[in-house]
Amino acid sequence: MNDSLNILKERTNLSIMNTYGRYPLALAKGLGCALFDLDGREYLDLLAGIAVTGLGHCHPEITKAVSDQAATLVHVSNLFFTEPAVDLAEALLATWPEGKNGRVFFCNSGAEANEGAIKLARRYMRKVRGEDRYEIITLANSFHGRTLATLTATGQEKVKDGFAPLPEGFTTVEAGNLDALRHAVTPRTAAILLEVIQGEGGVKPFASEYLQGVQALCREKGVLLMVDEIQTGLCRTGKWWAHQHFGLTPDVITVAKSLANGLPMGAVMATGEVAQGFEPGSHATTFGGTPLAAAAATKTLEIMKRDELAKRAARLGAFALSLFRDVAVANPGSIKETRGLGLMLGIELAPAVNAQKVWETLLARGFIVNLTQGSVLRLLPPLVVSEEQLTRFARALGDILKEL
Ligand code: PLP
Repeated sequence: MNDSLNILKERTNLSIMNTYGRYPLALAKGLGCALFDLDGREYLDLLAGIAVTGLGHCHPEITKAVSDQAATLVHVSNLFFTEPAVDLAEALLATWPEGKNGRVFFCNSGAEANEGAIKLARRYMRKVRGEDRYEIITLANSFHGRTLATLTATGQEKVKDGFAPLPEGFTTVEAGNLDALRHAVTPRTAAILLEVIQGEGGVKPFASEYLQGVQALCREKGVLLMVDEIQTGLCRTGKWWAHQHFGLTPDVITVAKSLANGLPMGAVMATGEVAQGFEPGSHATTFGGTPLAAAAATKTLEIMKRDELAKRAARLGAFALSLFRDVAVANPGSIKETRGLGLMLGIELAPAVNAQKVWETLLARGFIVNLTQGSVLRLLPPLVVSEEQLTRFARALGDILKEL
C-alpha cells in the first residue's frame, strides 16, 4: 500500500465512524469513466459510485449547470416556490407517461425515497381510501435502504443485526414465488414494494410472468404496487425505468442514485390518486428539491434524453454480455452465469474460483467493479462507457481467470 493511501486511511480511522469496508484506494479526481488516485494513477470506473454518475464524472454540462445555479440560488427551503424544483418534477413525470396525473416528492437519498413511499402508502390507505391497511410486503434478498423502516423492509438479515426492536407492519416473502406472495397478502396489506432486478442482491432479474403476476395480485387485492427504481432507473437498464420492460404500471416509483449525477437527491413518484395521501404537514424534508440539486438533476435528465442514453445502455449492455459469455467459454468452469439488463451487469463466478482474489486483481490492474453476495462481480458503469473500455475489462478478466 502506498504512503498517501496509508496516511488517508489513518486519518479516516481517527475521524469517521467505522461503518464501511473501504477498497484500498484513495480517489482524488474523475473525468468521464476515468478515476485517478492521489498519486495520479488512472482506473477505469465500471461502478459509477454504485450507479450514480450515469453521465460519467465531472460531465462539463453538469459542472456548468451546478456552478451557474450555485452562483444564483442554492437553498431556500420548501416554505417557498422555486422554479428548478418544478422544472425537474415536470421533466421526471414526462419520463413516466403511465403514471396518471403523477406527482413528485423530492428528498435526498434512496432510503429516504423508500421511507417516503412507505409513509405515503399507509397514509393513502387510511386518509383517502379509509381503510386500515399498513402492512408492506417485500421480497427476500431485496435491498431498500438503512433507515429503520427501510432496513426492516430489506429482505436481508445482515442489515438488521443489532437494531431491534424494528417497526411493525413489514413482511418479507420468498422472491419469485407468487403463491408465497398471495398467502402473505392480508386485508391489512397496503403495498408490495420490490426491485424488478435485485441489485445489491446480486443483479437478479425476475421473470416477466412473475412480475405481471405480482401486478395482477395487487390489482385483485386493492394493494399498491411500489417499484424501487433507485438502482435500476434512469436509463440504466435500457429504458427510462426498468419496470417498463415488463409492461408494469406501478402506483409508486422511488428514485435516487443517478438522478443528479452525483449530487444527493431522491424522489418519490406517485400517481395523482395515490399522491393525495400526502397533504401539507404530513411529510417534509429541509433539503428536498433544493435549487442546486434540482438544477443538476434537470440537466442530467435533459442529457439522458438528448443523447439517447437508454438506447445506448441497451446496446452496450448486450455487447458487454456477449463479451462476458466469450470469457466464460474461454475459461470453462470459471463463470457460473452472466446476466443483466442494459448496463446493470452481473458476472457470477463459479464456487471453485476465489472471487475476492479476482476482484482484488482487477482493482490492482486498474478496473473498478463491485463484488456482491460473495461471488458476483457487479458492473454499473457510467452510461457513456465505450465498447473499447468494456472490451479492455473483458480481456483483463479473461487473463486473470486463466492465471488463477
Ligand atoms: N434501494 C435500492 C434498490 C438500492 O440499491 C439502494 C442503495 O444501494 C437503496 C434503496 C438505498 O439508497 P441510499 O443508499 O441512497 O439510501
